[in-house]
Amino acid sequence: MPRVTLKAGPAPDGHEEELSEYLCDWPDCPNIATQVLGCVRELGLSAVVCDLHANGRPERSVDGSDATP
Ligand SMILES: [Zn+2]
Repeated sequence: MPRVTLKAGPAPDGHEEELSEYLCDWPDCPNIATQVLGCVRELGLSAVVCDLHANGRPERSVDGSDATP
């Protein structure tokens, strides 16, 4: 099990910011994020998602087919 504590990049003031129990960035997803997709340095933002959304797929398949093993 991955821990829910994530480390973001260094903050502007130099200290390393630690994010704890950050919520998934997926719209309407209430889960705790466990993975960092990437950072937008220009904006100082990080995209974080839960396990369900870590691979970029919604919980439900749109067309109903399930080709993923
Ligand atoms: Zn999610």
